[in-house]
Order: sequence, then structure tokens, then C-alpha cells
Amino acid sequence: MSDSSVLKVTSDTGTTNVSKTVGATWDVAVIGGGISGLVTAYWLAKTGARVTVYEASDQLGGLGTFFQYRNVFLERFYHCMLPSDRHLLGVLRELGLVDQVYWKETSFGFMRDGRLYGLNTPLELLRFSPLSWVDRIRVGLTGLWGSICSPNGLDDVTCVEWLSRLSGRRAFETFWKPMLQAKFGDRYHEVPALWFWTRFNREKGGKRERKGYIRGGYRRIIEALVKSIEAHGGIIRLQSPVEKLDLTENKQLAVCVSQSVPQVFDRVVVTTPISFLRKAMAGGQLASVAQQIDVGIDMQGVVNAVFMLRRGFTKHYWVAAIDEEIPFQGIVESTTLLEKIDTAGVHLVYLMNYVHRTDSRFHQSDAEILEAYMAGLKRLFPDFQDEDVIDRFVFRAPFVEPLYTTGYQQRKPPTVLLPGKLYLATTTQVYPEVTSWNGAIGLAREVVDELLSEI
Ligand SMILES: Cc1cc2nc3c(=O)[nH]c(=O)nc-3n(C[C@H](O)[C@H](O)[C@H](O)COP(=O)(O)OP(=O)(O)OC[C@H]3O[C@@H](n4cnc5c(N)ncnc54)[C@H](O)[C@@H]3O)c2cc1C
Repeated sequence: MSDSSVLKVTSDTGTTNVSKTVGATWDVAVIGGGISGLVTAYWLAKTGARVTVYEASDQLGGLGTFFQYRNVFLERFYHCMLPSDRHLLGVLRELGLVDQVYWKETSFGFMRDGRLYGLNTPLELLRFSPLSWVDRIRVGLTGLWGSICSPNGLDDVTCVEWLSRLSGRRAFETFWKPMLQAKFGDRYHEVPALWFWTRFNREKGGKRERKGYIRGGYRRIIEALVKSIEAHGGIIRLQSPVEKLDLTENKQLAVCVSQSVPQVFDRVVVTTPISFLRKAMAGGQLASVAQQIDVGIDMQGVVNAVFMLRRGFTKHYWVAAIDEEIPFQGIVESTTLLEKIDTAGVHLVYLMNYVHRTDSRFHQSDAEILEAYMAGLKRLFPDFQDEDVIDRFVFRAPFVEPLYTTGYQQRKPPTVLLPGKLYLATTTQVYPEVTSWNGAIGLAREVVDELLSEI
């Protein structure tokens, strides 16, 4: 690395100041081209580092990636932002995109025994007849307690224990369990109460919920980041799955993509699921580091369908619909948030199904999934007709939501694996923050600051 003067610039994320190292000549590889990788590359390229991004697929954006539908670009998996997403909004401000975000009041619904309940106000909770009067009041008090209690100690108890204690077992089964299932599918049992506490306070915190979306879709954020990375001399390699990561004899990092010659870097930031990294480092000089991140965390996947419809179903942004007969756990009616111009005029509905990648449902054909999901929709909405559907698509992602277990805060992998050399910014470290673009950017900020401070 060459000697360089240091210029202080203020980051718009509101977290820290970034030191801009003028004239630096060090090389850094960023593995993974999702939001974590792109924002890391964006900040590092701005400091003068020579950045190379390796992305396994043929598209950037990771779980926030998009597809073209008519004259618009839609997310494969529904995405929206919240007013509390300060890291994400900070980056949008830096990119000059923040005024492209529009906000709407949105709501949440709950399907039970064919009936749809709004669950957004104390009055709506009082009208939620599947619960007894006593249970409605206990659930309300649980919500109130959740918004004022300290999170201390909540990493050590499961949601099942904590919520059952506060609301009672019956209310847990009827009310809270479906919401946990809507995120973790059949793997909800072990999730710590701290996760629930963070999510509850992020989304509700006792106030009416508001959500935001960017005009033109998340593609605009991805493209703005790419433009800035490339303008600062960064290189983006698509279809470049990194298979091996090792140390060279002179202690530099060698990154290897399939059969090609390894590329040598001064520093590497990994943003892919950690199972990849463990495999890539196994058997080499970094094997002991691979053990360090073997923290026993698995991830839940998603089999998600997007329906373009002639009409919508409900007025809610998302509806939890947990029923053994229904092959998905929730419905996201994006049209309650997205402007018509951003959906090519159609009603846009996502059906979410969180399942593990080893589950047989994960490997069904698109046609089988769509047929089952159509049957599920008809069961929930008896007047729903085949003619209501204009188009429909299936998207799968094997690594989405970490399956947290109690005590995870102490066990989660560190951001610095080899000081001055190897860094980690992955979804499995965002906890107790909710997995989101905001959480990913907040973590990337931390890693970039650590990396720069070690130079
Ligand atoms: C159904 C669903 C709904 C969601 N809704 C929201 C929402 O409303 N709001 C929100 O903020 N967030 C939402 N999220 C979460 C959000 O998308 C993720 O938290 C975020 O995208 C994670 O970004 P990441 O870059 O850390 O990881 P990823 O997006 O997983 O990116 C990792 C990248 O690494 C690449 N990669 C993997 N292996 C290799 C390799 N060997 N070599 C090179 N590259 C590799 C992958 O192809 C991928 O592009 C949602 C996610 C899903 C699935």
C-alpha cells in the first residue's frame, strides 16, 4: 500500500466518519454482489481502494434482485423499507435517491378459519374473536410490555417461552405462533425472544405502520451503487463463484474462481452465506479460521410466488395465513404500497413460503408450486377465479433467514477474521437486527470502518 494523505469525509448514514485515503493502492476483493457486497464495494472504492466484486450469479442484488415485467422491474421477493431504516436511507441520501422514496400507511391482517381480521389498533385486537376476552387483553398487554421492556436477557429465552409466559399458552398458539411461522416456517421453536423484540419494535413500536418503496424499484439502488463503484475504478465480475480462499506464501489472500488462476488481494470482505466460506477455506491455511466461524447456524429458505392479478384481495400489505391446508404462510399485497406505475398497472401479490432447502417442497417444479398456491388462494378467497390471474412466477432462495437459537448474540461470527486482511459481513451477523437491507448496510458500515481503521 502506498503512503497516502487522509481526508475526513462525513458518512451520510449518520453512524461514523469515513477516512478517505487518497492515492491508496491496495487491492480488495468483495465476495458476493448482494446489497452487503455492493455497499461495501461502494464505500471502499470511494476511499481509493482497487475493488473487485465477485458475484456467483449473472445478476447483482442478491435477495433484493429483480426481473423485468412488461415495462417495469419488480423484485423477485417483495421488498419495502421502514422509516426507521436509517442506514439504508443514509445510503439513498448519499446516492441522491432519497427523494425517490414514497411512503404510505400500511396495515397487517390475519386470516383464520376463512375470516380476515385487521390487527393494527387496540380496537381491532379487541374485535379478534378467535381469542377469548382475557386472551385479547393479555396479547394487548404483551404488545405494550414488548414496546417498553428492556431486551436484556431476551437472547437466552425462546419466543415460545417468553410469549407463552406473557400471553398464555392458548393465545400463543392462536396468535403469536402463526406470526413466527410466517417467518421461520416449521423452524420457529428455537428462535430467541430478542429477535421478536427487535422485529416488533422495528415494525410497530405501538405506532401505525408506514412503509416505503423507491420509485422504479430496488433496481435503481443497485444500479446507482454499480455506477459509483465503476466510476471509482472498481471491477464487477458476474458469474464468478468463488470456490477457494487461501493465504499465499507472502501472506496475501488468494481468491479462486473455478478453473481460473487465483487472484491475489491485500484484503477480502466476504458477504455470502457463511457455509460457502467454511467450504472455501477448508483444507488450506485458513482452515482454523473456518473453524472459528463454525457457530452452528443454519438458514431457512424461501419458495415464493409472484402473481400479477386483475384485482387485489385485501387492503393489507401483508396477511398471515397459517393453515395446514394452505401451502404458503402469508400474502403480501404489494399494490397496497406500490404505485401502479411501478407495477405496470397490475395488482401485485407475493405468496411467501419459508421452507428449508432440504424440504421436498423446495424441489417441486414451478408448475406444481403454482397449482398448489392457486388452490390455496381459492380456499382463502372463494370468489377468486383463474381469470383473475394475468401472469405468475416462482422464485426460490435457499439461504434467507438465519435459524437463530438461544444465546446466539454471544456466538455470532466476528466481523474481523484476520485483522488487516479478512472480514465478514453476512446475514448471520446482523442479529439481533432483522435481516433486511437496513441491517445489511449497518453491518457493512461497521466492517468498512474496521477495515479502514486497521490500515
Ligand atoms: C422473501 C423475502 C422478503 C424480504 N423482504 C425484505 C424487505 O421487505 N425489506 C428488506 O429490507 N429486506 C427484505 N428481505 C431481506 C433482504 O433481501 C436481505 O436481508 C438482504 O438482501 C441480504 O443481503 P446480503 O447482500 O447480505 O445477502 P444476499 O442478498 O444473500 O447476497 C449474497 C450474494 O452472494 C452471492 N454468492 C453466493 N455464493 C457466492 C460465491 N461462492 N461467490 C460469489 N458470490 C456468491 C449470491 O449470489 C448473492 O448475490 C427479504 C428477503 C426475502 C427472501
